[in-house]
Amino acid sequence: MSFSTDVKTELLTVRPKPCCERAFYSAMLLFGRDFSAERLSLLTENEGVAQAYVFAVRFFSGVTPETQHTDGGHFRIVVDDRATAEAVLAEAGFSYPNAVRRIPFSALSANCCKENFLRGAFTVCGTVTDPEKEYHLEFACPSGWLAEDLIALTENYDITLKQMQRGGAHVVYLKNSEQIEELLGRMGATENAMSVMGAKMYKDVRNTINRKVNFENANLSRSIAAATRQYEAIMHIAKTKGLDSLPAELKLLAQARIENREMGAAELSKLLPGDLTVSGVNHRFRRIMKIAENITEKSQP
Ligand SMILES: [Zn+2]
Repeated sequence: MSFSTDVKTELLTVRPKPCCERAFYSAMLLFGRDFSAERLSLLTENEGVAQAYVFAVRFFSGVTPETQHTDGGHFRIVVDDRATAEAVLAEAGFSYPNAVRRIPFSALSANCCKENFLRGAFTVCGTVTDPEKEYHLEFACPSGWLAEDLIALTENYDITLKQMQRGGAHVVYLKNSEQIEELLGRMGATENAMSVMGAKMYKDVRNTINRKVNFENANLSRSIAAATRQYEAIMHIAKTKGLDSLPAELKLLAQARIENREMGAAELSKLLPGDLTVSGVNHRFRRIMKIAENITEKSQP
């Protein structure tokens, strides 16, 4: 099952108050495929959504429309009986004959009703991508005005839907995980809102670990590069003036490096007698490098 389906399944289990039930059903009708006195219709791949649309028509008209199964495995509900369609529009508050296909803001003064209206709109025209793959939630609205109205309705919750055209649909969408979580929660999909939060936390932790690992790898390769340079300088001294030419404390360190070619300064300091610090070890290495450089310069014509 897709994440969208999970969300819709959760949304359809919400038991609304009577005022909200009206808002929920009217949104399902308004954001369906056809919405006029001639024809009300919905095409959906989700059986639960199809069933809820049937309830919506019945809620306002008392008539139970038939659900058809399409060849593509979808569910289609059509109300083309004018008397029923007119009754639905009138009862749902879209006064016929001048039914305007816009969000009826005046009927949505209570916050609970606004949230349930969004729930109804999302069940018929919304989708949300699995947050482990991508943060994307959208409403594919049947008209530009409805898209505009949805943007205005969600502004109440500091949610900023963005707009784009795709085919004939007027799409409004979110890409921000916090806003997706907020909207899912508002609509009543609290469990799935938590999944979005969980996915975000997991990604954040993983990014932090990756950054740390990269940083440590970079440090490690820097320290190996330094160890290699030190080893080469020591071998150069050994082949020219000999290690016995070095002061006793440098000779000890040089021998320790020859035996431990990739060891870091901190570990080397523990191999050497006395309480030598890391910066003490590095200081001695700088002296060895200087000696090797001087031999190189002198050996050049
Ligand atoms: Zn309400």
